[in-house]
Amino acid sequence: MTSLSARLKATIRDVPDFPKPGVVFKDITPVLHDPALFADVTAALAAPWKGKGITHVLAIESRGFLFGAPVAQHLGAALVPVRKPGKLPSAHLTERYTLEYGEDAVEVHTDAIDARSLVLIVDDVLATGGTASATRRLAHRLGAGVAGVGVVIDLSFLPWRAALSGVHVETLVSF
Ligand code: AMP
Repeated sequence: MTSLSARLKATIRDVPDFPKPGVVFKDITPVLHDPALFADVTAALAAPWKGKGITHVLAIESRGFLFGAPVAQHLGAALVPVRKPGKLPSAHLTERYTLEYGEDAVEVHTDAIDARSLVLIVDDVLATGGTASATRRLAHRLGAGVAGVGVVIDLSFLPWRAALSGVHVETLVSF
């Protein structure tokens, strides 16, 4: 039987020079177009965290929403959108992080999680780890525990391991 990792490698589409020259964008839309593969991916993302007491899935805008929502359902956990600046309507915290050129930020509603929460962070791709690590800081600022990070794809030539050192990270396919 073909492994999930091999099925993902055969399905994820490389888009060179998107969104800027030199970046090879990992396009997961063909995974979404394959209902059986999409179902297997979300089940596999949830599997390592079953029985670990996860109360909330923090899903990172925007492709993290697509995977985080079904993972939260698999785990019987609440779904918390982690959004780019300016999108959350109610009281929220902001955590900034540096990009190769410039800065970005993620935000979460302050009433979404608290010291009783144990969260799982979900996104599509881990590259520098900056976004996931800023999301981890948001959870910690609200007193929540972070069980780990689950993503579909990791880019092993980028420094996400250093950014998330000491964090339990589960990925389904490495490039
Ligand atoms: P980073 O913070 O560098 O780990 O980047 C992770 C975020 O940027 C995720 O939300 C990804 O969706 C997106 N991302 C970074 N690099 C890529 C890539 N090569 N292909 C697709 N998405 C990417």
